[in-house]
Amino acid sequence: MQKKRVKVKPKALSIFKILGVILCVFLGLFLFYLKQINDLTKLGYSKEASKNILFSFKKDYVTKIGPNKTINKAFESKKDYIEDNLDNYRKVKFVKHKDLIANINKALEKGYKTNDINIIFAHGDNDSVKRFLKRDKVKYLEEFFTVEYAKLDNYDRYLAYEDDTGEDEETTVLYINLDMDKEDYADAKLVEKFSVDMLVNKHRNLSEDFEPTDLMTIPKEYASESDLQSSRIAFNAYKEMSDAAEKEGYGLVINSAYRSYQDQVDLSEDYLKWYGQSYVDKYVAKPGFSEHQTGLAYDIGSRSVNVFANSKEYTWMQENAYKYGFIERFTLRWEPITGFRKEPWHYRYVGKEIAKYIHENKISFEEYYMIFLDK
Ligand code: ZN
Repeated sequence: MQKKRVKVKPKALSIFKILGVILCVFLGLFLFYLKQINDLTKLGYSKEASKNILFSFKKDYVTKIGPNKTINKAFESKKDYIEDNLDNYRKVKFVKHKDLIANINKALEKGYKTNDINIIFAHGDNDSVKRFLKRDKVKYLEEFFTVEYAKLDNYDRYLAYEDDTGEDEETTVLYINLDMDKEDYADAKLVEKFSVDMLVNKHRNLSEDFEPTDLMTIPKEYASESDLQSSRIAFNAYKEMSDAAEKEGYGLVINSAYRSYQDQVDLSEDYLKWYGQSYVDKYVAKPGFSEHQTGLAYDIGSRSVNVFANSKEYTWMQENAYKYGFIERFTLRWEPITGFRKEPWHYRYVGKEIAKYIHENKISFEEYYMIFLDK
């Protein structure tokens, strides 16, 4: 049998050539594309953002400005990206808000400049920014929001309070964040989690069944009666403090420590019988609103003198308590903020770091809490 030789016709050969050229072109383009993407990811842009930057022909622009998280987010949020706003995106400091780019667009639409937008974003989370941007452009943005812990959601209350009282912006922001424009005990915030830096006062309360997670019985030698209870972490610090005081010749004693919600109910009823309603309203915290329910507060006495404020132990405490994590919670100076008359015997454990700061800067725990803890 004769073998047939398959011959490639010249026409077919040229098709292969063309295909080869096309393939090479595609391969070249693909490598070029990978190189561009690589350049951008090296700059800190995500793959997704890099792809969109490339297809929007903004690689030169982005390369010129270098790494920018807000620009990155803008190109990741393809549906929110508006080319005309690109320069503004660049000037907005990145925050981890889900709708960052949509919120920038909205703010620009309302007439805010990027400086204002940075201020707005620094004072609220994604949702409060969204709420804030639903209203018309506000007049006094900088006045209130130069106070670091001012909150967008409180803007109207700041305005109203400043109008009413003539207080400066800083005081206004502090008082409103503490809900001091509300009646005592009314519309209070429920504090649910036990922690040494928790804030309980006439606007922040504990539920009926709240109790410290590390409740223990205080050894008799540290207390004026047996079966007093406390948070363990607070008592460990107290013990260290009391032992140190004793070494130096000062006798401290705990007269009252943890009081349950029900204890506070009973106590209120006793005081009502003995002293009447107006006394109770003025001096006794309502159940759920006493710091004693946290297990972190002590009423401290002197072993030698009846009136603690007149004792050498009180002077020692004023100078040393902070070293062990305790603060004098209700002083004359902080009466307008705490809403409690001075109680030289009432000490609160907040931990060494906070106590030291409060001692050195002479601020109330309410202020500390607003500045550093109320996020
Ligand atoms: Zn007390």
